[in-house]
Amino acid sequence: MNKPSIAFLGLGIMGTGMAHRLLGAGFPLTVYNRNADKAKALGAAGAKIAATPRVAAAGADFVITMVADDVAARAVWLGESGALAGAKAGAILVECSTVTPEWIAELAAAAQKKGCLLLEAPVTGTKPHAAAGELTFLVGGDAKVLEQARPVLAVMSKAILHLGPHGSGAHIKLLNNFLCGVQAVSFAEALVFIEKSGLNRMQALDFILNGNPGSPLVKTMATRMLGGDFTPNFSMKWMAKDLAYSVAAGKKLSVDLATVATAQAALEKGIAAGLGEKDFSAVVELLRKK
Ligand code: NAP
Repeated sequence: MNKPSIAFLGLGIMGTGMAHRLLGAGFPLTVYNRNADKAKALGAAGAKIAATPRVAAAGADFVITMVADDVAARAVWLGESGALAGAKAGAILVECSTVTPEWIAELAAAAQKKGCLLLEAPVTGTKPHAAAGELTFLVGGDAKVLEQARPVLAVMSKAILHLGPHGSGAHIKLLNNFLCGVQAVSFAEALVFIEKSGLNRMQALDFILNGNPGSPLVKTMATRMLGGDFTPNFSMKWMAKDLAYSVAAGKKLSVDLATVATAQAALEKGIAAGLGEKDFSAVVELLRKK
């Protein structure tokens, strides 16, 4: 049986790995990225390159997006050259970017008008997981549509969770990143505390990382903060974006995510100091300089 055709929009750190997985699995693939240079490697590997999201989406059975935020998602989906303008009726649209529940609601309405079916499917996992097909999809939308999309999502993931209607995926993803962002900054403070205290750093870290505070996220942060290589897996500017989105989502539910404030302030300071494009673990650098 012929595999369904896929348009993939957004070839950043995550999208590049995801698109390579789809191509490797034999799906006919057309890609688009605002900065066209980033599409070259996929083009050389056999993907078609489209000049606009509209052209990429034309005729595709699936249109998948993995872009920065609400602003970027709006730019690739809407407007004259947006993907929705090209999408055929019955196409399955999959929004994988970390965005707000409000944007998902708006996109779902626009998709319905075009006769398309929308799934939101933000992910956990980072650059190596995207490249290895080991992401976890946090899906919101119709369960029957998910069953149609499952063979496509499976190529990029180790797990696919169906969380409920549209908005459920955004909510759980923002909660996930709220907890990760706060933990990252508190661990950075702890690490600098250890470094300035005269404690044996490795012994202290061994105790902390193998004790109750040693969550998978904290362990990853320890590796990156000790290694000092801040090449982005997940950039500081996008973690700051996610913390802002999580606070706003909390407000709508009358839940004050008050512990975000300090983490957010630390990341904003990092961004102001020119670390926005670096991995968010680079927040430790600022604290070390104090
Ligand atoms: P990235 O490397 O910075 O890539 C961002 C992508 O968005 C690029 O393709 C970029 O195009 C595009 N973009 C940004 N603004 C745009 C605009 N106004 N119009 C059109 N395209 C625009 O980021 P990433 O790490 O791949 O993250 C992508 C999404 O996944 C984000 O929502 C992020 O929060 C989420 N996420 C990331 C990770 C991670 O570990 N990295 C994990 C889970 C979820 P250009 O190349 O032209 O700039």
